[in-house]
Amino acid sequence: MASILDSPIEYLKGVGPQRGELLRKQLDIKTFGDLLYYYPFRYVDRSIIHTIAEINPLSQYIQLKGKITGFRTIGDKRSKRLVASFMDKTGEIDLVWFQRSDWILKTVKTNTEYIIFGKPNLFNGEFNIVHPEVDDVKEINEDGGKGLQPVYSTTDLCRKKGLDTRGIAKITKTLMEHISEYDVPEFLPTYLRDSFRLINRYSSLSSIHFPKNEKAAHEAQRRLKFEELFLLQLQLIKLKSNRQQVSKGVVLKNIDHLFDEFYNKHLKFELTGAQKRVLKEIRRDTLSGKQMNRLLQGDVGSGKTVVALLTMLMAADNGFQSCLMAPTEILANQHFESLSQMLAGMNVQVALLTGNVKGKARQNILQNLAEGKIHIVVGTHALIEEQVVFQNLGMVVIDEQHRFGVAQRAKLWNKNTTPPHILVMTATPIPRTLAMTVYGDLDVSVIDELPPGRKPISTLHKTDAHRAQLFGFMKNEIEKGRQVYVVYPLIEESEALDLKHLMDGYDSISRAFPKPQYQLSIVHGRMKPADKDFEMQRFVRNETQIMVATTVIEVGVNVPNASIMVIENAERFGLAQLHQLRGRVGRGAEQSYCILMTGNKLSQESKHRISVMCSTNDGFKIAEEDLKLRGPGDLQGTQQSGSVNLRIADLVHDAAILEAARKSAQKILEEDAALHKPEHQPLLSYLSKSSKQNSWSKIS
Ligand code: ADP
Ligand code: MG
Repeated sequence: MASILDSPIEYLKGVGPQRGELLRKQLDIKTFGDLLYYYPFRYVDRSIIHTIAEINPLSQYIQLKGKITGFRTIGDKRSKRLVASFMDKTGEIDLVWFQRSDWILKTVKTNTEYIIFGKPNLFNGEFNIVHPEVDDVKEINEDGGKGLQPVYSTTDLCRKKGLDTRGIAKITKTLMEHISEYDVPEFLPTYLRDSFRLINRYSSLSSIHFPKNEKAAHEAQRRLKFEELFLLQLQLIKLKSNRQQVSKGVVLKNIDHLFDEFYNKHLKFELTGAQKRVLKEIRRDTLSGKQMNRLLQGDVGSGKTVVALLTMLMAADNGFQSCLMAPTEILANQHFESLSQMLAGMNVQVALLTGNVKGKARQNILQNLAEGKIHIVVGTHALIEEQVVFQNLGMVVIDEQHRFGVAQRAKLWNKNTTPPHILVMTATPIPRTLAMTVYGDLDVSVIDELPPGRKPISTLHKTDAHRAQLFGFMKNEIEKGRQVYVVYPLIEESEALDLKHLMDGYDSISRAFPKPQYQLSIVHGRMKPADKDFEMQRFVRNETQIMVATTVIEVGVNVPNASIMVIENAERFGLAQLHQLRGRVGRGAEQSYCILMTGNKLSQESKHRISVMCSTNDGFKIAEEDLKLRGPGDLQGTQQSGSVNLRIADLVHDAAILEAARKSAQKILEEDAALHKPEHQPLLSYLSKSSKQNSWSKIS
């Protein structure tokens, strides 16, 4: 049966076709239900009246009571606006309208007492309020002071048509008059609501829009946040268990000759406790008969590569092939070389397949893969192509996963009748709350320990005034045999300009570090892959002491002898990226340094980022800060892996609710996987109705 909530939004009284179109296009509100779930992002207490004298740069939405003393129209064409002088007992402030000024002039009188509602802005050194709401004092009093008013996010185009926060509140009020408990039935089991003291669904939806008081607003939020996170977790856990039941995995029973031979004779160091633990987890997965889907998180330099290699040797010991997929050509090359080095003297066939491998060489590799003569193939996107056929692919390792989309990964699954095991490695630490949501369907392993003997990188913030000092320091380190990275930002919109910065930087470094005493490498995105590779290799072989580069070197490059990372215009980088770049040094036994170069004037946020970088080397702490600063949508690692669009819950502040929701979801599915118990029927029917519409269906 169709629900009233499915009705097209234009049919709601007070909306109509024109505003309906706007709601659809601008706010993605297509139905009555969408409007119901369009929650306010905060409330304003309309019983409090402020004074003009109290206004300060931190003022949010406020109410003022006073009179308009006169109107004037200023500016012309696009800057034309109506300005009113508004006075209370303590002072005067301008009210400004860019639109609908005729209507304002018609309806708003001078020298009449009004309640004004809006957010003060600082403009040319003076405060004003743009597009305020203007209410008759009498009207407000009749409403009993109006109490808490919802504030909705909206757009300029919507505002123009009266869909400002108050306009949205108004149509929402109309909507609430049309729906009852019957239209939004409860689906959370009573025992769950009791144990978390959650109010019912209908009350929460009406209170979220029009709460009687702070307490009611808070209770509504808590219930709806729980609901959102609970449904999300339920979906993710179901996805995971379905996959475990459906996707059989190849069993890697033996670990004998290749694994043992490498472990006992070729591995040059003792594995860390964390590396051993992760290998045990992988071992358990690959013996289970189910497909492994594991995310391996480990900070830069924590030694993920050797874990990947040992995992691929487990496959080889059981007659299965493996592939290791890297996001860039440089990285694929480097993985190929380091694997070949580590495996030297062993009877393991490793091949490199990238876009650069062409002609006869490529044909050879393709044939050997199909015939099963290659044990491990390292490559880039080229591995996904259809012509790449394996005899029996058993293990897929994906390095630096955030560069690969879900769909691309899925193509690899299909290269074997039984899907291969999947190990996704990432050096982007993901805060726990985010991992539980974005990767809630994967098992997560963490390498939370660095190999012994690493000295913490020391990070310093310097400005142009210190450049001579910086060059002196670089010379000292180079004298000791060390190498240096100097990195410049390269952001697409201003690519040409950034390239100029890079070249200017290169020139000035060349002058300070003249040949033949010093040799420089340069790498940037506009170079041909072969040239990039050539320059990179010179640096890897220590033929050049300074690598001047853009962020193309960000991911994975391993030159343990490099001990200084200079980041130019460091204020232009995000925290995650700064941390990645810093991870390029500190890989050997020497003390390493990361120097963040910035201009003198920095925004508050840049200052904060720089100070976070200077105060910690802990990737997880940095990721938490990044999450706080930017919100989950922008975090590296979420964009392509299916981002989470949460309506009301917030991964930074609602970690406790998330934890509770996940546990509850786990428990329910353990006890009643099919949700067939009578108390779970409403939940099941809600899920089946809404699985197509909800944000969590976007996660894969
Ligand atoms: P990442 O996790 O960033 O990919 P790598 O796998 O490149 O890190 O490892 C970084 C460096 O640490 C490499 O030179 C590697 O050989 C070395 N390494 C890895 N594990 C250990 C260990 N247990 N003991 C000593 N060195 C190790
Ligand atoms: Mg790596």
